[in-house]
Amino acid sequence: MVKLNQKSYIAGSWIIPSSEVFQSKSPVTGKALATYNSCGLAELEAAASAAQTAFAEYRVCSHIQISEFLNTIAEEIESLGDQLLETADAESGLGIPRMTGERARTCGQLRAFADIVAQGQWVQASIDTAIPDRKPVPKPDLRRMMRPLGPVAVFGASNFPFAYGSVGGDTASALAAGNPVIVKGHPSHPATNELFCHALDAAITRCNMPRGVFSMLQGATHELGGELVKHPVVQAVGFTGSLGGGRAFMDIAASRPTPIPVFAEMGSVNPIFVATDAMSTRGEAIGTTLAASVAMGTGQFCTSPGVVVTTGNADFNTAVAKGLSETPRGLLLNDNIGNALVRAVKEITARSDVKWLNQVELSDSDTSTPPNIVLKTSAQDFLVDKTLQEEIFGPVTMIVECDNEQQMLQVADSFEGNLTATVHATDKDKTQANALLERLEQFAGRVIYNGFPTGVEVCPSQQHGGPYPASSAASTTSVGADAMLRFARFVAYQGLPDAYLPSALKNDNPLNLLRKVNGELTQSKILPVYTGV
Ligand code: NAP
Repeated sequence: MVKLNQKSYIAGSWIIPSSEVFQSKSPVTGKALATYNSCGLAELEAAASAAQTAFAEYRVCSHIQISEFLNTIAEEIESLGDQLLETADAESGLGIPRMTGERARTCGQLRAFADIVAQGQWVQASIDTAIPDRKPVPKPDLRRMMRPLGPVAVFGASNFPFAYGSVGGDTASALAAGNPVIVKGHPSHPATNELFCHALDAAITRCNMPRGVFSMLQGATHELGGELVKHPVVQAVGFTGSLGGGRAFMDIAASRPTPIPVFAEMGSVNPIFVATDAMSTRGEAIGTTLAASVAMGTGQFCTSPGVVVTTGNADFNTAVAKGLSETPRGLLLNDNIGNALVRAVKEITARSDVKWLNQVELSDSDTSTPPNIVLKTSAQDFLVDKTLQEEIFGPVTMIVECDNEQQMLQVADSFEGNLTATVHATDKDKTQANALLERLEQFAGRVIYNGFPTGVEVCPSQQHGGPYPASSAASTTSVGADAMLRFARFVAYQGLPDAYLPSALKNDNPLNLLRKVNGELTQSKILPVYTGV
């Protein structure tokens, strides 16, 4: 059992800054839990300078060393045992079964990155050999591969204390690609953040890694996050959270003297379209399952279905309303989420163009245990007001009723970027489904057929991201093997003698990689070309 010290972890040292104090709070009882101090500029400077020093050493670690490091982190997280699950449950109210599953996902993704790094293929080695006697000019020897960016700032979200937490997907993928990481800990779960640092500390010692490869700054101020993103040592940002937070970091990063990339995964309404025959043959069943998907985890998933587009069906509406009203209320994670939810529901239900189908009185306690809500509007109103597309984070969905299939396509055309988009259809809906699918892939990262968006499989073919505002970089994913690519960039080496080249690009192919050599994928060695030098 680890004895919690209520500190931040900076390059191997445990620190209590002499600045503002904040407390985590139990979402169940509302009582204060642990007390921590927010880091300030001095602690940020220490973490940044250590990360810069560590980068010189960490970036040249072998793929085997980095792979072992990631596997060791997973082992050390597991060896925290029930203490980690109980601490995260106390701070989030998400429950032990959910935390157990999330720990498996978190360790699983660390091990998956460890395997990818060990295989070495991710660097995408490509070699074009020289043609010294090419006319009219000789062709140089050019070799290209992925290299790490430098220290990465990571911000996690409150709704995934493990999978998107201090050692979640962003930290794992940044470390895997060879970058030190500085985490700004989420203020909702500081003791959980601290426990992860104990695991990292043990893994760093066991693997003899540079101490500055990982730091975690506890903090409950926007200023700390802003200063971290502004810091000249930081070369990229991994963010999971609200659109407001992600957008703030995108703007700060873009206005630095040297702008840096921000990979922000933000909110989404994940629209579901129910085609005509699917609605008439199994509308009620879709409505019941939709209600379960909306209420799952008190709606606190970035993939929660916040909008469902139909051509109108009373049985469907009743099934959704009944399903949501009969599902016991769940807990919200923190006051910020609760206050934002109640404010948004009050605002939207005050509008004449939105109807609350399973209306109940809102009370003060609804900021902690809100009702499961279904709203309804017309496609006509939805099409003229983009604010109806905004995420209400929590167990809330809105049915958008269209006059006909043509109008449903217009609604599909109106969506901004989303993480997912879904079609429910039967074989008889083929023409309509085709027309919808063609549109859906233009605004969503993942297109789903006859399923529901909640539940994100972690595997190489997963795409978790989407056009803005779902994420800041639509061509990247934050889940799956390719998440590493966000924190690396291609470097081409022209005319370098073999001795200077990274192992992945050497003639002898010592890592036994499948490389693109003169346009062909091959594992073979390369015969050095005499360039006359
Ligand atoms: P959040 O309030 O945005 O917080 C995330 C982190 O950003 C915290 O460390 C927060 O710390 C910081 N932050 C937020 N706004 C900031 C600002 N303006 N300036 C500086 N720092 C700022 O998000 P959350 O409530 O924890 O998470 C829920 C949201 O995450 C939902 O919208 C959900 O859809 C989204 N989410 C998205 C994904 C995805 O993969 N797309 C996954 C999970 C969750 P401070 O408050 O201390 O500043």
